[in-house]
Amino acid sequence: MTDLALFREMSELFPGLVRSKEPLQLHTSWRIGGPADFLVEPGSLQELQRVVSYARGKGLPLTVIGAGSNVLVSDRGIRGIVIKIGSGLARVTARGRIIEAEAGARLSMVAAVARDNGLGGLEFTAGIPGTVGGAIVMNAGANGLAIGELVTRVTVMGPGGELLEKTREELQFGYRSSSLQQDPAIVAAASFCCYPRDVDLIRRDMENCLALRRNHQPLAEASAGSVFKNPAGKSAGWLIDNAGGKGLRVGNARVSDQHANFIINLGSATAQDVLMLIEKVRALVLQRFGVKLELEVRLLGD
Ligand SMILES: Cc1cc2nc3c(=O)[nH]c(=O)nc-3n(C[C@H](O)[C@H](O)[C@H](O)COP(=O)(O)OP(=O)(O)OC[C@H]3O[C@@H](n4cnc5c(N)ncnc54)[C@H](O)[C@@H]3O)c2cc1C
Repeated sequence: MTDLALFREMSELFPGLVRSKEPLQLHTSWRIGGPADFLVEPGSLQELQRVVSYARGKGLPLTVIGAGSNVLVSDRGIRGIVIKIGSGLARVTARGRIIEAEAGARLSMVAAVARDNGLGGLEFTAGIPGTVGGAIVMNAGANGLAIGELVTRVTVMGPGGELLEKTREELQFGYRSSSLQQDPAIVAAASFCCYPRDVDLIRRDMENCLALRRNHQPLAEASAGSVFKNPAGKSAGWLIDNAGGKGLRVGNARVSDQHANFIINLGSATAQDVLMLIEKVRALVLQRFGVKLELEVRLLGD
């Protein structure tokens, strides 16, 4: 089937949800990324299920993104269907000490609901961009804490559209990693266990986290946060800075002067610019400190 025929068929099956040749730079915080053959934004779990089953039936590759705040999408884009899980699947509810959130909910919304219900535990997430789905896959964290520690249960959708419940143990959370990074399953929802805490204390801690970010991160520029993982016992930012990496530039990608582990897009950077800069930074740190930096950001596409 041609792309046009597929687009017509998908538009009939999923009216208003499908875009063809959608520039993914519009869907990533780096503002980088070529076109998705098809981008679909499901408005409900049932729609997500139908899209997943359709892709399987047609043998089309499937890629999932949330807010695109931790991905580098190639300049040639992504073949097949990209499912963007966002505002259509974003309900957040507090039940006793448990916060239940759909995968497209922003982490900031989850933390706000917890705060408003006098539930502590999620304060450290203040200022981490992205969705619940992305945060679970990446085991997002800050200040020595990570989201996986609060997880009680995650609902995932398998390649056939079936829903499965996974426990924290099954997801094998590690530093910026989970078993879902090697698994085609799609995160549909997650529950977090919090504890009762004074709302003013929660608010204070969240504001402190935000202030720390404003002081140390180039938040006005397009980036994907930290590009490299911190090697055991070391800070990737410190290593890059002390190897002389600050200010290094390839095309329109530049190592931030404010935080050496951030690569910023000066306006029209390509994925190729960023990849070449990544290799330069890696070579510099390896040469100066003998440390091989590992990527935190996920590479997507051709
Ligand atoms: C300014 C800035 C600051 C940041 N600070 C931090 C920080 O302090 N700590 C931290 O950990 N991260 C940080 N990040 C990185 C990023 O915000 C987190 O990794 C976030 O959790 C990613 O969520 P997302 O929805 O944007 O995921 P995406 O970037 O869209 O996706 C990330 C990965 O998860 C997969 N994925 C996304 N949603 C799903 C789903 N529903 N089901 C299955 N797979 C899915 C994608 O395929 C991809 O592999 C920062 C980023 C920026 C831009």
